[in-house]
Amino acid sequence: MLIGQFWGTSAAEGIPAPFCRCPGCEEARKNGGKSLRTRSCFRLSDKIMLDLGADAVTQSAKFGDLADVEHILITHTHEDHLNPHMFMELVWGRAYTPKKPTHFYLTEDAFKMVEHWRKTPWIVKGILPKLEKEGLVVFHKLSFGERIEIDGCGITPLEGNHKGNVGENSALYLIDLPDGRKLFYGLDSGPYLPQTLEALKAHQIDLFISECSLGLSDAKNPGHLSFPEVETLLKQLADQGTLTAKSHVWISHISHRTSHPEMVAAAEKLSFPFPVEIAWDGLKIL
Ligand SMILES: [Zn+2]
Ligand SMILES: [Zn+2]
Ligand SMILES: [Zn+2]
Repeated sequence: MLIGQFWGTSAAEGIPAPFCRCPGCEEARKNGGKSLRTRSCFRLSDKIMLDLGADAVTQSAKFGDLADVEHILITHTHEDHLNPHMFMELVWGRAYTPKKPTHFYLTEDAFKMVEHWRKTPWIVKGILPKLEKEGLVVFHKLSFGERIEIDGCGITPLEGNHKGNVGENSALYLIDLPDGRKLFYGLDSGPYLPQTLEALKAHQIDLFISECSLGLSDAKNPGHLSFPEVETLLKQLADQGTLTAKSHVWISHISHRTSHPEMVAAAEKLSFPFPVEIAWDGLKIL
């Protein structure tokens, strides 16, 4: 059953960021609501999550339990997207819910993190090999450009231009939904790599999700996109036919530097043949 709900829509710092008093964080403290953002995470269906990061426990209290989730697609190994504490949550929770395996999917280079966890006693008490032996946790290696099928969805990771904790390139997920629509989850993409733009030429995306980790500033960061860079990317994707009048774009993984009302105002000024909206925690799009 498709759900398509943003569970978290902030960049790594969260909004408000705990040590920060910038105008964006102060606006969120004052107004709450859509201005409050937890770390990025997306519930695709009852069985599939995209990332399981630093705020997953709080998000689950708000949006529903994870007992039915069987597959977790990881974009990359930064802690805002993948929090090893969640392995312990499986131990505690599966004592009271059906003891089925939870499958985690990471791309080849990101898998170095799994190999590290298997060896170290200093992350979740070194419990991972035991959980794998018991079949509670199963890891799968993905390759960029190679499609796999999970619960009626066709999943293809494309190469992002953002380096995770073990130096891996992030995974941007192209997803063929069971109803025929195509969803693209492009968080921590950085400026798109030529091979990724090329791969996207073969697809018309119905639901396109982009990062905007630098907010409205024209700051440059090799691993992230600012709002002006998102605009340029959308133009490029429209020119090559990946985005069409039938597409719908959402912006997520948003910086604390720009408040929600400022982001919404900037998105309203764009002129594309498709809507571009600012995501917020709890928004459902499927
Ligand atoms: Zn991130
Ligand atoms: Zn701030
Ligand atoms: Zn990251």
